[in-house]
Amino acid sequence: MRTPLTVGIASLAILATSFTPVLATEKRELDSHEHGHVKLEIAIEGNAMEIKLEAPGESIVGFEHAAKTDDQKAAVAKAREQLSDANTLFVIPADAGCTVQASSAELHQHGNHNEFEGEYTFNCTNTAALASMETKLFSLYPSIEEIDVDYVSANGQGSVELEADSPRITFAPAG
Ligand SMILES: [Zn+2]
Repeated sequence: MRTPLTVGIASLAILATSFTPVLATEKRELDSHEHGHVKLEIAIEGNAMEIKLEAPGESIVGFEHAAKTDDQKAAVAKAREQLSDANTLFVIPADAGCTVQASSAELHQHGNHNEFEGEYTFNCTNTAALASMETKLFSLYPSIEEIDVDYVSANGQGSVELEADSPRITFAPAG
C-alpha cells in the first residue's frame, strides 16, 4: 500500500525526468544569446582589422519573430541598413588611417529567436595607432545593455565588457 508521500515523490521523479530535456534546450539558447547582450569579435592583423557583430533582434528592433506587418518589415530593413554601415557603428582614431573595405549585416532566424550578424573589414595604414576605438551601438540601440568584446591583435588578446557609459574598447598595449 502506497502512502500519499510515496506517491508525491514518485510523481516528482517522473516530472524531473520528463522536464530535463526541455531545461537543457533552454539552457543552450540562453548560452548562445542573451537579450540585451551584444557580442563583438575584433581581429587586427597586419594592416587589416576585421569586426564581427552578433546582436539579438530584441535589442535592435524590439522583436524576434519574423517580421509580419509593414512597420516590422521597415524596422528590420532600417536596422540592416544601419548595421551594414561600419562608419556609423565604430569610431576609430584618425591616426590609424582605417578605411572600410567591406561591411554587411544579415538577420538570421533561429526558431523563436533571431540575430543580426554583421561583418566589417577595414584596411588601416597604421594599426600601431589603434590603441582604442569606440562604438556607437549604445546610442543607436538603447535596448543594448552590454557589449562583450573579444579582441586579438599583434600585442595580445583580451576581453572587455562595455556599457552605455563606457563604450570605449582599449586594446592591450604593445610590449
Ligand atoms: Zn532571443
